[in-house]
Amino acid sequence: AVAGAGAGKAPATGGSSGAVASKDGKVKATFVTLARNSDLNGLSDSIRHVEDRFNKNYNYDWVFLNDEPFSEEFKNTINALTSGVAKFGVIPKEHWSYPEWIDKEKAALAREEMVRKKIIYGGSEPYRHMCRFESGFFFRHELMKDYDYYWRVEPDVKIYCDIDYDVFKFMQDNDKWYGFTISLPEYLETIPTLWDTTKKYMKKYPQYIAADNNLDWISDDKGDTYNGCHFWSNFEVGALKFLRSDAYLKYFEELDQAGGFFYERWGDAPVHSIAASLLMPREKIHFFGDVGYFHVPFHNCPIDDSVRLAKKCVCNKNDDFTWKGYSCTPRFFTLNNMKRPTGWEQFSG
Ligand code: GDP
Ligand code: MN
Repeated sequence: AVAGAGAGKAPATGGSSGAVASKDGKVKATFVTLARNSDLNGLSDSIRHVEDRFNKNYNYDWVFLNDEPFSEEFKNTINALTSGVAKFGVIPKEHWSYPEWIDKEKAALAREEMVRKKIIYGGSEPYRHMCRFESGFFFRHELMKDYDYYWRVEPDVKIYCDIDYDVFKFMQDNDKWYGFTISLPEYLETIPTLWDTTKKYMKKYPQYIAADNNLDWISDDKGDTYNGCHFWSNFEVGALKFLRSDAYLKYFEELDQAGGFFYERWGDAPVHSIAASLLMPREKIHFFGDVGYFHVPFHNCPIDDSVRLAKKCVCNKNDDFTWKGYSCTPRFFTLNNMKRPTGWEQFSG
């Protein structure tokens, strides 16, 4: 998995910009991970999970991004664990700093206030750069240019089941644009003005709102207010053409100008989720109910016994979050006329 000059393992990219497979039939897709050098151990665990359950059979590339250069130890360890080509990139300063229109004093005072209110990551400056980067920039990084699809992986996550099909080919063949495993409501204290800013965008760019959208999943009152439901973005499989679309780029620009990444603590999860729910037809969104996933503190574990056995899942179905009261996924099933697995109601307590 050694990358860099002369690494010969990358699939031919064919020079076409559309979503077409490369010459060897492989989808132009990559894993993408934002990490610090100090994340190495937790990230190694995540990579083993993804490689053992899926990528050892498919050898997709893996892009690692950091706001500082990765250490030799980091690169050597990761290269030993990845079956595809691993690429290591530094984030350009302008994608990880304050835009000139942000009032830094106002931002600092807002952080202090959020510390007083004990809002998680409320006082953290890097967390805000992280959320802004994941919202607006990771897909514009030089190393992401060759790809049509991405799968985001974070440190300390688990994949519980065998994934015996090519996830990226599934996305491409079915023209899915966004895939998730877990959904839940956001703490509204982190996003007081996100919805008002979104409404301004909707008014300004009505042409970008998809006709058959997923608005009723994120709003209980036809768009008047946001109910907080979002796809948990630490797991994401997506089509980069969506994030690179005018509709999405204009949405990000509107949010970035409003300053809520710094004056509040807007997360990339609600940002991606609101965009996916408004700007794409809802059939483009896919629930991955068969991979099994964990990121502290929530599990996705298929409750269907036959799925768990067939896919050799190593999770406890009683831990599954999908059907629990706080999950937004049951609502997603209802609105999209999807069939719930047998016995789901036993897991809703
Ligand atoms: P949480 O899942 O919301 O608790 O946030 P995490 O701490 O897991 O951060 C989300 C992702 O961003 C993870 O992939 C982290 O490795 C990465 N990350 C967070 N902060 C930084 C940072 O300051 N620098 C870099 N390079 N990566 C970061
Ligand atoms: Mn995390």
